[in-house]
Amino acid sequence: MTHDPNCIFCKIVQGAIPSRKVYEDDEILAFHDIAPWAPVHFLMVPKQHVPSLAHVSEAHAPLLGRMLALAPRLALEQGCQPYPEGGHRVVINTGVQGGQEVHHLHVHVMGGPRPWAKG
Ligand code: 5GP
Ligand code: ZN
Repeated sequence: MTHDPNCIFCKIVQGAIPSRKVYEDDEILAFHDIAPWAPVHFLMVPKQHVPSLAHVSEAHAPLLGRMLALAPRLALEQGCQPYPEGGHRVVINTGVQGGQEVHHLHVHVMGGPRPWAKG
């Protein structure tokens, strides 16, 4: 498993920085965003350091597929209402112009009653 010693999400994966955990398996960690925009707002990250969506290759496809498939289940577990009246937003900011601030690939999952602070 590759980690970047300067990466905040690698530190969260390794437990060096605490987080409020939503889900964990061998490859994926999900935890609540520290500054939520919506009543439900958590992040899903690969445990290995992948800087962004721009860095993924075919080899990452199963991992990304698992993350996307997991998002709706975790959203419901975290209190999002079911589709279609409820639902959730899935966002992957990529690169500086894409709004990415933390350069470890992460999937934002946001939901709950509106209005939201952002988005
Ligand atoms: P980005 O703008 O890169 O897509 O999103 C980064 C997200 O990470 C932001 O929503 C920010 O609130 C969240 N974040 C940054 N540092 C931490 C941290 O130390 N802990 C947690 N739980 N979230 C963080
Ligand atoms: Zn990292």
